[in-house]
This record gives sequence, structure tokens and C-alpha cells, in this order.
Amino acid sequence: MVTKSIAVLAGDGIGEEVMAEALKVLGEVSKRFGHTFKYTRAPVGGAGWDAYGSHFPDQTRAVCANSDAILFGSVGGPIGEAALPKWKGCEANSILALRKAFNFNANYRPAKVYPELAGLCPLRPDIVAKGIDVLVIRELLGDVYFGEHRTTGEAGQRRATDLAEYREDQIVSIAHHAFRAARSRRKKVTSVDKANVLDTSKLWRAVVQEVHRDYKDVELEIMLVDNCAMQLILKPSQFDVILASNLFGDILSDEAAVFPGSLGLTPSASLNADGFGMFEPSGGSAPDIAGKGIANPIAQILSAAMMLRFSFGLNSEAAAIERAVEQALASGAGTRDIHTGAGRLVGTAELGDLVARQIANA
Ligand code: NAD
Repeated sequence: MVTKSIAVLAGDGIGEEVMAEALKVLGEVSKRFGHTFKYTRAPVGGAGWDAYGSHFPDQTRAVCANSDAILFGSVGGPIGEAALPKWKGCEANSILALRKAFNFNANYRPAKVYPELAGLCPLRPDIVAKGIDVLVIRELLGDVYFGEHRTTGEAGQRRATDLAEYREDQIVSIAHHAFRAARSRRKKVTSVDKANVLDTSKLWRAVVQEVHRDYKDVELEIMLVDNCAMQLILKPSQFDVILASNLFGDILSDEAAVFPGSLGLTPSASLNADGFGMFEPSGGSAPDIAGKGIANPIAQILSAAMMLRFSFGLNSEAAAIERAVEQALASGAGTRDIHTGAGRLVGTAELGDLVARQIANA
């Protein structure tokens, strides 16, 4: 039995609605497994602006620093209000500030297709039928995003350069993330690079192979990024964990994100080398459906499961949530974004209730 402090940053739009369901489900987990989860709520994004005039107030930062994990909703306002001070720079000022404040070097983005929602996946049915359950782990603090960017002029021609850089310790850290994560899954890591061209990739490949010596129970496969982009579409069932640099991971994780069929189904996590992390839906604050009780809470609920597994090491508890989600979806219930003709249309709270009940009755 463990006691954990969790910073709850629901944010804007549908954030509060879906967060309520994740906390409901965590409540059932704590009852069933005897853990104590202590929540401290703090405003972020537009809500932070309203409370303290900042998208990431010092008070919120302190709450996060004093917690064992951050459960995050989403931030941002309607596109039509983007120029208002409350929303201007809101995402960068809060999410990027959180990444920087806690040195999050790894971004985890799982993409899973649930059998009863297979029709929502844009891939061919025979490809989907083989099963899709991929976790893309992307390095977040190195690569071409952080090197020097320069545009110059020479002999009437504009010329631009972007410097891609990786240090060995950055690759060591992200490789450990990937191998550790694979141990809680199907024990396979596909490391993606472009080592036939890039020095950063040659170093990446060598270091990943060195770190692999500590994880002999995990299979390591090396794949060129262009091939990986094709294989994800042709035969996604071959992948378990995909490990990629910042740039390649950015692209591949978005490619995989379309498989489940709705942003309402896809959780994500950002972690640092110590396992401290922030867990959040991949989607945004969905202002178009906020306050209507129709948002899909699954991404937020699965973000809580990722928190239990990857920050607290509570694998059985995380699996219990994931199983409960599968059972709730298998019952045919779904919010509007995943509702199929044959199923039962439910609201945010009802879907959360269904998942919570599965845990209570297991
Ligand atoms: P969005 O992800 O909020 O919405 C895109 C579409 O997906 C919308 O139709 C929305 O209704 C739907 N959707 C998203 N989550 C859903 C859920 N849980 N259930 C059902 N449907 C869901 O992206 P957007 O509309 O481009 O952006 C809206 C705001 O969110 C903007 O202010 C943007 O800056 C912000 N944003 C925040 C984050 C974040 O907090 N991490 C990420 C992306 C966008």
C-alpha cells in the first residue's frame, strides 16, 4: 500500500469534466488496492490566468514540485479568442514551461485500437485485425529543435541551417526509458534512426545498443525512420515500443495517433530521468464541446493509468484501469466521438461510471 501526492491541473475547456472521471476511477483503484492518493488542485492555462494573471503561476509550480506526479487536463481557449491576453501563448507558457521546469526528456504516446472501435481506425480492416498497440517514446530535449537556427543571405540567395545535436547522456537516458517501458509491455523496442546518413543517428544507434546490454530480456530491433513510417501503416502489429529522437518521434507519434480513431482515446506522458512525470490527454481543451457533458473521458482516465505504471510502478493497478476501459468499451457504450450505430450513446460521467464500476466489481 502506498501514499502518493498528485498535483491535479485540470486546466480549461473539457479539462474539469474529464478530470472528474479520472479521479472517480482513481478513487475506485485506491479502495480496491488500499492506496492513498492525495490530490492538490492548482490552476493552469486560462484558469491560471484568471486566478493569478499567469498561465503557469508560481503557486501551481510549487504544488507540482511538492507532488509525486502531475495529472494534467488540457489548456487553451476557443480559436476565435486566440488574441485575448487570457489565451495568447497559453499552451507554450504552461506546457512548455512545465517541461522546462521539470526537465521532462521523454514523451510517451501510446496508440491502441480497441476491437469494438476497429471501424474508426483509418487502416484497412485486415491490417487492424492483427492488433495495434504501439507506444512511441520520443526524446524531448535534444536534436534539431534545440540546436542553432540561422537564416543568412549569400550572393542574393537566402540560406538556412538548423543544427541537430545529441549528447551521449541524453541518448542513454531515453534508451533506459524505452527498455524499462518495454518490460511492462511485450518486451520489444524498435529504435528508429537515419544512421545511413546522420552522425546524430550513428551515435544514437551505438548508444542504444550499449544500453541494451542491461536489458537482455527485451528484444531490440533497429529500423531506419523512412522504413518505420511505411511499416507503421503496412504492419503496425509488429511494433511494441518505438524509440525515436525528438524530430523523428514528433512525426511518428502523430502518425500513430490517428490509429485509435479519436483524440478522446489517447493519453500521453512526459517524464524526466527520475520518473517524475506529467500525464495528460493528447488532445486539447476542445472548446467546441466544453461544458456539454459529452467529452470522452477515456484519454484522461488512461493518463491516470500511465501515471500509476510509469511514475508509481503500480503495474497491476494500471492494468486494472486499462482492463476496465476495455470492458466499458466492449459493452458498446461510447461518447459521441466514438459512438457507432450499434452502440449505446453515453455522456462523459456515464462512461466514467462504467469504467469505475468495472474496477469495483472486478
Ligand atoms: P482539440 O484537441 O481541443 O480538439 C480537436 C477536435 O477533437 C475537436 O473537434 C474536439 O471536440 C475533439 N476532441 C478533443 N478531445 C476530445 C475528447 N476528449 N472527447 C471528444 N472529442 C474530443 O484541438 P483544437 O480544437 O485544435 O484546440 C483547442 C484548444 O486546445 C486550443 O486553444 C489549443 O491551443 C489547445 N490545445 C491544447 C493542448 C494541450 O493542452 N495539451 C493540445 C492541443 C491543443
